[in-house]
Amino acid sequence: MSTARAINLTNENFQFEITESGTGNHVNLIGIIDEDTDFSALLKLKTSPVVFNFKNITSINSCGIRTWVNFVKEFPEGNVTFIECPPLVVRQMNMVPSFMGKAKVESVFVPYVCDSCEHEQNKLVLVSDYKKGTSIPETIQCEKCQSEEMEMDGNVKQYFSFAK
Ligand SMILES: [Zn+2]
Repeated sequence: MSTARAINLTNENFQFEITESGTGNHVNLIGIIDEDTDFSALLKLKTSPVVFNFKNITSINSCGIRTWVNFVKEFPEGNVTFIECPPLVVRQMNMVPSFMGKAKVESVFVPYVCDSCEHEQNKLVLVSDYKKGTSIPETIQCEKCQSEEMEMDGNVKQYFSFAK
């Protein structure tokens, strides 16, 4: 059994949804992280395991990064996991390692762009698979035009440099 409750903050650009389960809390982060984002209502979660899902984060600016870094450093090691990080979050983790705090990054979306139709598509990859040496495909099939020439947007090693 788990219960979900959506919390709408005064900031209309950012919302979060907490799902409680027996093992901890799952927090779905939604929208834009910027100078108006206030994470203080989430600080009370730091005493039990928490999973942050970034799938629905659409933008982060430099003020938002600072706010997030100050927030996430409050969470002790072993208690915090990041999942479904989109490319814009992965780029922050690579540039600003403190963005991760003491979190374990479980899964990230790898971006692909189609050579034929320019369609963009993200593929979810487990970071543990990458660390085990499971190869990340450089090309996949485009779901829009079925071309086999959909290439990863960037360099695999650089993209996973956060996972050292
Ligand atoms: Zn295509």
